[in-house]
Parts: sequence; C-alpha cells; structure tokens
Amino acid sequence: MPRGSNLPAVAGFNETVVLDQIRRSDDGVSRVELVALTGLSPQTISNVTRKLLQRGLVHETGKLVGGPGAPRTILQLNPVGGFAIGVHIDPVVITCVLLDLEGNLVAHSHLRAPSVAIEDPEEGIAAIAAAVDKLIVSTAVPRDRVIGLGVAVPGPVDAERGRVVKPPLMLPWSEFPLRESLETAIGLPTLMIKDVTAAAVAERWMNAENPSRNFVFFYYGTGVGVGMVLNDEVHNGASGNSGNAGHFRIAQDGPICRCGRRGCFSQAVRPARLVNQAQQLGLLDAAAATTDLHSVFGLFEQLVASAEEGEPRARQLLIGSVEAIGAFIVNVTNLLDVDRIVFGGPYWSTVEKFFHRELQERTRFSEIDNLSHSVNVVSSVVGKDVVAVGAACLVLAGTFSPHSSKLQIAPAAMKVGAR
Ligand SMILES: [Zn+2]
Repeated sequence: MPRGSNLPAVAGFNETVVLDQIRRSDDGVSRVELVALTGLSPQTISNVTRKLLQRGLVHETGKLVGGPGAPRTILQLNPVGGFAIGVHIDPVVITCVLLDLEGNLVAHSHLRAPSVAIEDPEEGIAAIAAAVDKLIVSTAVPRDRVIGLGVAVPGPVDAERGRVVKPPLMLPWSEFPLRESLETAIGLPTLMIKDVTAAAVAERWMNAENPSRNFVFFYYGTGVGVGMVLNDEVHNGASGNSGNAGHFRIAQDGPICRCGRRGCFSQAVRPARLVNQAQQLGLLDAAAATTDLHSVFGLFEQLVASAEEGEPRARQLLIGSVEAIGAFIVNVTNLLDVDRIVFGGPYWSTVEKFFHRELQERTRFSEIDNLSHSVNVVSSVVGKDVVAVGAACLVLAGTFSPHSSKLQIAPAAMKVGAR
C-alpha cells in the first residue's frame, strides 16, 4: 500500500493516495480512517479531501454515529465525478469506449476502419476525434469531467515519443505523431500503450471478483501477441513492446514469415494464413479476395463454421492451430509460472467455442512441467472492447495510483491496482 508524504510539494501524489484508499473501501471511509490508512496527518487529509470534494471525485454519503468522538462523515468515490476515454486503433475496426470513475462502461462505439483511416493518419485522427466527440455528446457527460484519453495501438511502439514504428498492417502510421495529434484534435491528455498490454490491463482491472496476480493474456487478432501481468504488475518490457509472441520459432521449416525467418508461431495460427491454406485446399472460394482485412474476417468465419459443422479438413486445419497454441501455453506457463491464460482479441469470439473445447482436450502439462498448481484457460471477462477498455483503465489508474502517472507512457512496469 502506498504511504503518503506530508510535504506540500507532492499534493498531487497525496490526492491519488487518498483517492485510491476511498475507492478501495466499498462502504466508504471516514477522514479518521484515512489518517490511519495513509499515514498522512489529519491536517493533510482534511486539505486533500476538501480538494477531492471540490473536484467532484468523491462525495459525502452520510455519517457514522457511535464509538468515541463526534459522528464521522463517510466519503465515497463519486462514479460520475470523472470519466475516461479509451481508443483501440486496429486495422479492421476502431473502438472507442467511455468509462466512469469506477470503471463501468458507459458507452462504446465501433467504427469499421475505413481504408482511408488506415492509409491516411490525418483522416484517421479526424475520424477518431469525431467518434469520441459523438460518444461524449450522446451520453451527455460534462466535457470537463473527462480526465483523459488512452489510445492502444499495434506495435512496435515508441512509447516515449507517442508513435508507432512500422506497424506491419498500418505502415502509413509509422512515425506519425499519433499521441500528439490525438491530444490536439480531442483536447484531452493522451497516453499510448501497445494493444496486447492494454488487454492485460483491462483484464486485471475488470476481473476484481476473481483476480489472478500472474496471468498471460493471449491476444488473437490479425496477428497474435501476449500481455503479461506478473506479480500483479503489468509487464511493459524495456521499450513498451513486450509480448511479441508471433515470431516465436516453433518449427525448423514452414512458410517464410514477414520477419524473414521460417517456422514462426504466427504462421501457424493467424487467421489470414489459415484462410489462405483453406483456399488452397478448396475449403474456401479460391477466387475470393484476401487483400483487405474485412474480407479475411468474413472468410475466416466461414472456415470456422465449416469446422464446427464437422468438415474434416477444416477441423484438421484449425486443430493444427490449437495444437500450436497449446504447446505455446505450456511453454509460457513453464517460463513464467502463471496460473491463468486469458484469451481474447478481435478474432477470438469467432473461434472461442471450437478452440476452447479443443484446447481443454489437447493441452496437457506433463510431470516435467513441475507445476504445483492448476492453470485456468479462460476467455476474457471484458469481451471484444477489451483493448479500448484497457486503454481507458490506464487513464483511471493514473488517477488512482500515485506510481503510474509516469509509467503509463514510459517504458516501464506499471502497477494497476485491483478494483
Ligand atoms: Zn516471424
């Protein structure tokens, strides 16, 4: 638990410490209790709570009578005292969410990424700004209560400069001043995070009922990647780019990957590759275009449907992927000693039923895996908005966690408290 400091220079720090304590107490908390919980002086608590009340972030919800001294006023988080926006830029769909201060989803929107938004970052920023504006207007949320915006993007990210660097499916965005442009267009403090890491943030933040301190989020999208929560901290890596699972080498041969090597994990599991294989096998219309990602999505749905109906070659094709994912899970669990693998991402809901059943059947830990606990393989509790929600949670985390403000955008591990 973070302890506060009584120095006036860190008033902002103390506010987050106190706000976090108030948020963690379901039934509210009195000023006297806050003194004990934070180690701050009664005078500091009085000043800080006054500021939080003025800003509308907390409210007084009654008095506790009994015990020694005067009745104590109870302070609670005011869920509508602040809001956060999350944006997930994906080559197929742009998702925007609005969360309240408690992390409840107030509204969301999905913008089928028009090719112009992907080809022209300026147009993309304008489309996102319009979508965010619509979200705020449609919910009648007072604009001055929106604390900030989190944007999640495919890697590689240059977290320090708020840019992406040669993202394979969004090349025109490479080196475009993404964070800065969004900040200017929307007028909100903006932070940036890699998509797979945002997914892990959302899962950690939203799954308070059933938290795991050590888990991996397996992101199944146009590509694959993992977000990691280790010892209750979201792992960002040295440059904000951890989780590049797609280029794990799982075989000596196989098709050449865009990274120039053969045998990459993503070649065995990514939807576009499976669609191509299915076309070659005559399982899907060989003439159907796969140049744009929307068509790939549709064809992939067809392939999964046919496997579910029992078409043997479609099943075999998908089971090959399941086996590769199963082996990957075993490796990751051995490496990191996690107790949960969470699946999600834009393509996951399409394969969820099929993959989940087959994974349960085919993923076996052996004696040499030396695990003293079970490993739960589950689907994300957050659903398809998971990455955008994670980006918004990051904004909330900055409001609550005195340690996260500089860690949100800097390449460092970040602590995201449980709700
Ligand atoms: Zn590769």
